[in-house]
Amino acid sequence: MLTLPPALAERARTGTLAHAYLLTAEDPVVLRDAARATAAALVCQGETPPCGECKHCRKAEKGVHPDVITVAPEPGKDLTVEQIRSLRQDAYIRPNEGKRKVYIVENAQKMNPNAQNAFLKVLEDGPAYAAFLLLSPTPAALLPTIRSRCETVAVSGRAGTEDADLARRAGELAGLLLDGERWRLISWCTEHEKDKREDAAALLEETRRAVLRYRDGKNTPRAVRMARTLQELTARLNGNANVGCVWGALWAEAGET
Ligand SMILES: [Zn+2]
Repeated sequence: MLTLPPALAERARTGTLAHAYLLTAEDPVVLRDAARATAAALVCQGETPPCGECKHCRKAEKGVHPDVITVAPEPGKDLTVEQIRSLRQDAYIRPNEGKRKVYIVENAQKMNPNAQNAFLKVLEDGPAYAAFLLLSPTPAALLPTIRSRCETVAVSGRAGTEDADLARRAGELAGLLLDGERWRLISWCTEHEKDKREDAAALLEETRRAVLRYRDGKNTPRAVRMARTLQELTARLNGNANVGCVWGALWAEAGET
């Protein structure tokens, strides 16, 4: 499942992601998942990146996309200047399959000073199709010159059980949006009016995916429209919209035929 950091959802959708991000979280698994989703958003050729359905998304999610390259230090060692130099050389070879090349640098804080300086060059002068995702639990260990050239995004981690709960609730809401009776949807929305903004954003984003998975049946145009609405509302929440207003907008939109 591609779970994009909510802060990047709107820019992913509009194809305006920056070329360098510093993703931070304590949990390496959470970081890796966020990086794969962001990489998918960059290489996606579907309608609403990351669509999760095009071949680029699917390969990026599995970590097998030829234009998504991961660089990591050997266990117990630094990321060396040689590794960064070969990344730099590779960056000048055009993408294999898509329009972008994405470099994921795991444990970026382990770049030694020479490696960081070499990396700085590729950050500044790399080809326009190249994008860089630096992952680090301790971003302060990176040179300020690197940090200032990346947008920093704190990725919030969620435990597996919470994930399963979120997926269940998203599936339920998707069913209500596509097939449900209107009064049940309204009562759902009313119950969630006082949710925390970030919880509501996570639920709407997850529901968008559930709605798209639901698309096989007769609801196709409606599912596509609802997915778009959910994406817009998630963006509004991330832009500090009132949670109650967003739920109100959702059931109003779902009521349109
Ligand atoms: Zn896609």
